[in-house]
Amino acid sequence: MDSWWQLGEWSGYRGNTLSTYDIGCPFCSEKGNYEIEHHAEKKKPNGSKVLNFDTLKCGNCASYVMVFWSASHDLHSYRVLPRPLTKLNKYPEHWPEANIFQLLQAKRNLKDENWDAAVLMARSSLQASLRDQDATGNNLKQEIDDLAEKGILPNIMKDWAHTVRELGNESAHPQLDQEPTSAQDAKDIVGFMDYLFEYLYTLPKQINEYRERKDS
Ligand SMILES: [Zn+2]
Repeated sequence: MDSWWQLGEWSGYRGNTLSTYDIGCPFCSEKGNYEIEHHAEKKKPNGSKVLNFDTLKCGNCASYVMVFWSASHDLHSYRVLPRPLTKLNKYPEHWPEANIFQLLQAKRNLKDENWDAAVLMARSSLQASLRDQDATGNNLKQEIDDLAEKGILPNIMKDWAHTVRELGNESAHPQLDQEPTSAQDAKDIVGFMDYLFEYLYTLPKQINEYRERKDS
């Protein structure tokens, strides 16, 4: 694209109007909860193309987001300012959407320095992803052991999964004299979930892609 007048010409999202449902608030991460505070536009001289300059107000945190957008032929594209500082809504598209929200919440809690809440959500994310792999058992402990017995979790991940489970249990059922979870522990625990998702979802996908390349 060498001119802003080309925004929304060849690639973008469906529709001739701005769809905000996928735009995450850079301040609170909530998606698509906006009202238009201000709208301005500039029409192309001797043409029909319009550049839109919208200021949106987030319904959740009352911050403002500027969206510059344009449409043509049932397609529109946009740029958002400011950009979110951390990619708390982004994850590889082959990771299962159904249980990704716990991991995203864990990461948002890290950002907000809520270490115990981060560990709790990491524990939920762990359990959801194990169940996604058809783990059976009456509790997380049994579910971890089940997947280890089936050979889905290697020993090193099994041991670490139990560590996540135990730390999560402490945060969920605190003793009176309990120390709060440290920042480093919380970051390590949430970081482990990234490795687990890579291992459960990205690695098999890459191996499949390799095989398909060799077969064709
Ligand atoms: Zn917001």
